Amino acid sequence: MDHRSFDRRNIRTCAHCNLRYDWRRSPSSLKMTYCGSICEAAGLGFTIDALMLMELPQPNAA
Ligand SMILES: [Zn+2]
Repeated sequence: MDHRSFDRRNIRTCAHCNLRYDWRRSPSSLKMTYCGSICEAAGLGFTIDALMLMELPQPNAA
């Protein structure tokens, strides 16, 4: 048993599916909120990666 891999302090509950997970192992951009990129996308409606790509000067922005 490697207790370091299951440190309760690092266990988070996913905001979307309520799964308990180790946030350090989450592939999500929002590691501490979602267990994975699928839940991140489902919870937000988009991914942070996609948002980053959209983070460009928008001439039409008010
Ligand atoms: Zn989840």
